[in-house]
Amino acid sequence: VLISFEGLDGAGKTTQMNLLEAWLREQGVRYLRTREPGGSPLGVEIRRLLLNRPDVQISPLAEALLYQADRAQHFASVVLPALEEGIVVVTDRCLDSSIAYQGVARGIGAARIEELSLFATQGHVPDLTILLDLPPEKVRLRTDLAQDRHEQSHFDRESEAFHRRLRAAFLELAETYPQRIQVLDASRSLVEIQHDIQMLVADLLAR
Ligand code: C5P
Ligand code: MG
Repeated sequence: VLISFEGLDGAGKTTQMNLLEAWLREQGVRYLRTREPGGSPLGVEIRRLLLNRPDVQISPLAEALLYQADRAQHFASVVLPALEEGIVVVTDRCLDSSIAYQGVARGIGAARIEELSLFATQGHVPDLTILLDLPPEKVRLRTDLAQDRHEQSHFDRESEAFHRRLRAAFLELAETYPQRIQVLDASRSLVEIQHDIQMLVADLLAR
């Protein structure tokens, strides 16, 4: 079973994934927590290039393809082998981020990025995607900044219009894939949000 978390930077993905991780452990579920970009050794290098090398010029198309290279390696070496063993894989971002960020917000085209993403995942898509939805003006100051202090957050770097486009793109994806993508109002309390997440995951695991 593959579960992805999506949303704007600062929507609370990391916090909710921490809570979910504790709950899965309590339930005795075999799980693997991972992320894109950076979920494999190659991915760590690609992530570094994408997020903390402002001195290296990367065109929008090259950026989009680097995210796909990260994903191809992630699926081939981490995600698919784990799924094969029956492990529940929980990833911080997956193909919807590419569609929203590179496809829509950077203007490369949602359909094209979706096609490339499916090529990179060898056709696999998450069984459940939890979209933590928050208007950009409500985004919390990044709490995970300490962990990634050397990285540039797109949230600080990009305009409010960029984040509006992103949010709209995520919501449109949720309308296109209503079965897979569950939209949660991330402006509520941590406990309320986590409760909904646990219900969704419990449902999925019982299927
Ligand atoms: O979610 P995380 O902190 O790992 O994302 C790192 C940065 O990469 C964020 O600023 C996010 O906006 C950006 N990103 C992106 N395109 C993606 C995935 C992440 O621009 N496909
Ligand atoms: Mg984060």
